[in-house]
Order: sequence, then C-alpha cells, then structure tokens
Amino acid sequence: MVKGKKDDKRLITPIEAYLNLPAFLGIVSSSIEVFRKETIGYLLGFKGENKFIVEYAIPYQAVETGLTHATVDMDRVARINEILGKVSEGIEFIGDFHSHTQYGDAPATVTPSSSDLMSSVPGDLNIICAVNLKKRSVKWHEDNRGVLIGTIGSYRIIIGGFYVAKAGIGARYQRVSIKCPSVTGLREKKK
Ligand SMILES: [Zn+2]
Repeated sequence: MVKGKKDDKRLITPIEAYLNLPAFLGIVSSSIEVFRKETIGYLLGFKGENKFIVEYAIPYQAVETGLTHATVDMDRVARINEILGKVSEGIEFIGDFHSHTQYGDAPATVTPSSSDLMSSVPGDLNIICAVNLKKRSVKWHEDNRGVLIGTIGSYRIIIGGFYVAKAGIGARYQRVSIKCPSVTGLREKKK
C-alpha cells in the first residue's frame, strides 16, 4: 500500500457521449411521458476511448416506478443482451438512462443520487434526464458543464451524464459531456 505519497491520479480525460437523434428522442419522450414519475431505460450504441456514441435509448416498460426511484427486472436485461448478441452489428449495451423529476418545490437536477451511484455499473454510461416545468422557452444548447438543456412543450429538460470507474459506497463519479448536434446544431456561429 502506498501512503503519504503524492496522488498519482492521472489527469482525468474528459468523457463525451454523442446522442444520435433516435437516442435523444427516446430519452426525452419517455421522460416526459411519465413526468412526476421516473422512467428508466437502456442505451445501445458504441463505446470508444473516452467516448460513447448512443444510437438508441429504449425505456423499460416493466418498471416499478415510484416518485423517487425506478427499478428494473434484471431478467429483462439478460434477454436484451441475448438478442443483441445475435443480431447487432457492433451495437452493444452501453449503459442506462433514467429521469429525475420535480418534487414539490425542489427542482430536478442531473446530479446522481447515492443510490444512482451504488447501482451504476462501472464502465457504463449513465444518463440522467431532469424534467421540470418550464418557466420560459430556451433553444437547445450545451452549457459549460457539458449538460444539454432545452425546452419542449411545458417542460424544461436537462440531460447530463456520469461515469463510475469503480463500484462501491462513496464511489466517485466523473461527469460525461452530453452532445447532440442534431438538436444543438454542429457549430453555433455567433453574430
Ligand atoms: Zn437518479
């Protein structure tokens, strides 16, 4: 065991996740549909070095939803993996998403709860979609924390990502920058 030595933690490389339009729509529409309850689903796509490409986001239908958390039947995950193993062309299960909702006066955020951190699989991408009632409309944009923000209908949506390298209580997480050029545009030119 090394003690008292200077922290040899490497510089943290930023991790990015690119949402393709079907993935973006899957996350946002399922989160809005069950608003005031939480949705949970899985992400399919490709995983590269410090980068995820999310092709699809598919909500689980057989979820026990409560106001504060959602759980999934693990057999369902196993069945999905079995199908993917047979038919996918490089597309794989790369992680999960779930929504957070406004609860009373407390606005929903994209900060993972301690149970989110406990249940997240190390190495997987985790996406949180926070749904709040909108106060005013904003165009879809990425803020300086790497979080995607925009409004749809009566809702203000925030999409954030996190990543856990190692499991455990008090596990540290790293933010994942979420990008979705389909809705934010490839390059925003300033006038
Ligand atoms: Zn959560």
